[in-house]
Amino acid sequence: MKTIRLASFVLSAVASAACSAPTVSSDTCVIEHVHVIPMDRERVLNDVDVVIVGETIVSLGRGLPTPPDARRIDGRGKWLIPGLVDMHGHLLADENIADEYQADELAVILANGVTTLRDPIGKPSLLALRAAVARGAVLGPKLRLGSPQLAGRTWPGVFNGREVHHADEARAAVREYRDAGYDFIKLTTDLSREAFDAATDEARSLGIRVIGHVGDQVRLQRALEARMQIEHMDQFLEALVPDDAPFRESVSDISVWKLERWKSLDWLDASRIPAIAKQVADAGVAVTPTNSFFFTCFARGSTDAEIAARPEKRFVSPELEAVLLRGRPMYWKNPPSEARRQRYIELRQRFVRELHAAGVKLLCGSDAPEWILFAGFATHRELDEFVAAGLTPYQALETATVNPHAWLGDLAQVGTIAPGKRADLVLLDANPLASIADVRKIAAVVVGGRVLERAELDRMLDAAATRLSKAKPLE
Ligand SMILES: [Zn+2]
Repeated sequence: MKTIRLASFVLSAVASAACSAPTVSSDTCVIEHVHVIPMDRERVLNDVDVVIVGETIVSLGRGLPTPPDARRIDGRGKWLIPGLVDMHGHLLADENIADEYQADELAVILANGVTTLRDPIGKPSLLALRAAVARGAVLGPKLRLGSPQLAGRTWPGVFNGREVHHADEARAAVREYRDAGYDFIKLTTDLSREAFDAATDEARSLGIRVIGHVGDQVRLQRALEARMQIEHMDQFLEALVPDDAPFRESVSDISVWKLERWKSLDWLDASRIPAIAKQVADAGVAVTPTNSFFFTCFARGSTDAEIAARPEKRFVSPELEAVLLRGRPMYWKNPPSEARRQRYIELRQRFVRELHAAGVKLLCGSDAPEWILFAGFATHRELDEFVAAGLTPYQALETATVNPHAWLGDLAQVGTIAPGKRADLVLLDANPLASIADVRKIAAVVVGGRVLERAELDRMLDAAATRLSKAKPLE
């Protein structure tokens, strides 16, 4: 599982069959003459061979010794990057469709180059799915799971969640979810300060990290003190409300639905952003902006034609589409003014720039699959959005490779391209450092050393589309 050095593959001592093609007996794969973007720093290694044995990259270089029966992938004119991570991707099967479709969704996500997925709100069947992926029984991205959500308020149909109001309830929930095997504790909306303090304190004493939303009762300073990993840049806009404003709230999180709160956009003091970014950096807190989700749904909007043209469309039944898009006419019937929505975009983009400049580790998260924005496809859109905010394509790629693996704690094993690292890779037909949109031009995905070339990815997508397009909504 760990480092396998060059000598071991020369001796054919590695038993894994992970990268064998049917006609090849060797467990060695070589991606030949490829431009490697290793992501350890900004550089390209031109025209090198990448040798993979079993699930591990064993060497990079030119003219390396390889077994004659190694599987060979022609990398000429192609670029190789580490596999992508989506740090905030829910599955349709978490809430909207039956668990039997989980593996189909993972296939779609993997075919888009995502080799690790953090699903922030877990449930028991996802624990089993995580184990099935880990032992190779299901082909998909490695899963990291948040707990069922701890919320201060639930409503009929709230998924995988539990209301906690008091300290003892919050502590008990944290213990229960830690013991059940979830990787992180997930906090969501309307949590009381008492419940937040107890949950974060209990989690700290148990050694499990807390991720999620920050509400009006908690606010940014408290979340930073608690070293919570913040999703959606919750409470960042609220931190820009001037002291003399006749309100304290703005439009973070589900408050985007409250039209009167959009008036706050006329007041917000953008000159505070650098100081806030420094506070986040000093706290060592990583941030998942999920800007593409918020902009697509609530700020820019999407036309019917744009939705019809999304690559996700063929994976959705008409009945499920109606459920997933139910909020759209409700929101856009009486939307905030264009000027306020534009200011919302500008401020959130400026936060991304300033957070990055301050040294905050930004994380790529799609917040799939609401409004037909599915992990994989939507992961690519979030990368676009980092560049739209002012990051370079290289810096955007960091949010989906090294930064998440550093946060997840497995950067020593995966997340850059180097000998000894797990072979989770994406082979691209074009250079993503020239245009981040080129992460979509996928020639092959390598997951745990298993190479899936374009024709196989297309077969996986077709099979998943056949099944998922018949999946009926559960409600
Ligand atoms: Zn989410």
